[in-house]
Amino acid sequence: MSRKPIIAANWKMNIGPAEGAAFIAEFKKLTDCSFSCDTVIVPPFTTIPAVLDALGECKCVGIGAQNVSQFDNGAYTGEISTSMLNELGLQYVVLGHSERRQYFGETDAIINAKIKKSIAAGIIPIFCIGETKDERLGGQLETVLDTQVKGGLEGLSADEVANLVIAYEPVWAIGTGLTATSKEAQEAHAFIRQLISNVFGADAAAKVRIQYGGSVNPGNVDELLAQPDIDGALVGGASLKPDSFATLVKAAK
Ligand code: PEP
Repeated sequence: MSRKPIIAANWKMNIGPAEGAAFIAEFKKLTDCSFSCDTVIVPPFTTIPAVLDALGECKCVGIGAQNVSQFDNGAYTGEISTSMLNELGLQYVVLGHSERRQYFGETDAIINAKIKKSIAAGIIPIFCIGETKDERLGGQLETVLDTQVKGGLEGLSADEVANLVIAYEPVWAIGTGLTATSKEAQEAHAFIRQLISNVFGADAAAKVRIQYGGSVNPGNVDELLAQPDIDGALVGGASLKPDSFATLVKAAK
């Protein structure tokens, strides 16, 4: 089955509204708003309106949020609800990123609740999983992925799983300049797809898109995307400049 590649820019806590608007103007010029993959930009919350304004009528890029609450609107200081994301027309939300797991104590159960809330609101989760260096060296790669996949996706239907996006991001490769080799990445992706097949069925496994994340850049993107189970990339550092992000988007065919 052929899956449309999806390239997503995770700006993290970088790029304010003015810089975000300038990024979009430059990105549109560099790409002519024409590429053959799905493209997503995930700005900080306060930058989102400026990015949407700069995109205007152009729908070449989907916009996502970096987090969402598992609760409805109400007394949850500092949180943002799915209905607020809906009001802005956002299509995606990144959930389970290792930085949220590590610094903000997000567990598989919390991530699972956020995924369910997002799907119920019609927002596509980009569900991040991945092992630390110690876990990989300790031979726990498969156990970690198994726990994260089963915990994060518990209670979802096969259809719901087929339509979300998984991002395999080895924690040791995020923001470090270290990338998994294309062979290591392909092996992990194939393992994840097999897991999805075991739990949700072969059809969901064939349809679900699995991005690789971890120091993807214009120099390594072609080799990574050439792997049969790698369906795109979730990109941090190399997504912060329009020319570098445009190169990545053009590489995905
Ligand atoms: C990320 O933040 O998800 C990421 C992969 O970052 P980087 O590309 O900088 O490693």
